[in-house]
Amino acid sequence: MRKALFLSAALAATAALTACRTTERRAVASAATPVGPPSSDRTVAVLWFQQAAERRALSYQAFNIARERLDEALAQRRPEDKLAVVMDIDETILDNSPLEAALSQNGQPYTDAAWKGWSRRGIAKPLPGAQPFLAYAASNNVEVFYVSNREADEFDATRDNLRAEHFPMVDAEHVRLKEFSEKGKERRRRDIAASHKIVLLMGDSLGDFAGMFEGQSAAERDRLTEKSREKFGHVFIVLPNPMYGAWEDCLYPKGLTEEQKAEFRRNLLQAEP
Ligand SMILES: [Mg+2]
Repeated sequence: MRKALFLSAALAATAALTACRTTERRAVASAATPVGPPSSDRTVAVLWFQQAAERRALSYQAFNIARERLDEALAQRRPEDKLAVVMDIDETILDNSPLEAALSQNGQPYTDAAWKGWSRRGIAKPLPGAQPFLAYAASNNVEVFYVSNREADEFDATRDNLRAEHFPMVDAEHVRLKEFSEKGKERRRRDIAASHKIVLLMGDSLGDFAGMFEGQSAAERDRLTEKSREKFGHVFIVLPNPMYGAWEDCLYPKGLTEEQKAEFRRNLLQAEP
């Protein structure tokens, strides 16, 4: 489940701008300011996710690599091995960008209630390549575990959504949602690893791979990623998500307003000297 906040104040400013007369709007648009409204940050990310064929290609690339890794594991499997793949759900196998797009268009902030209103509908579409890969894993007697930070009260809708899109092994044993007060996914991964050999993990956030990435600064996330470089494309396979995530959350000190976050983002850009 996503945690990033939306830019309500900025979006309100955009709405106000839309209400201006055409001439005024044109004048604002042509003003020589290098800084757009904060909402434009999010809009471009959501647009990329929904419209860029490159995003589709990256998704296929991820699942094609996953299949190669799985085939290697199958070739080396001993009869007693219980193989498993561990999958994140959101922005890994299901596409929640329609929620992001609606919030952005309507000038609404992200809230847990908005998230649950969306997830309860159970209409998220699969990301390209996800279902065929998991069907292939299941057909080779590899267990599929869906380890998501969606919450327990989202189980029924999540199960129904995954089943409607023909994902395999969608049941209480294999869909492992976040338990009350649980922070990361480490305990659930350990549970699975106790009885299975995990062939690979897939996710759009580093926390989908190992607990060491959780709650770290951007610099530390970089350092740990460098340290783990051999694992990417092998046991860790990453999907792209520019819309939200720990990558963004870790950039801000706690308690900033949306305007302050926008300012923070601008200051973090590494511009040419
Ligand atoms: Mg995710």
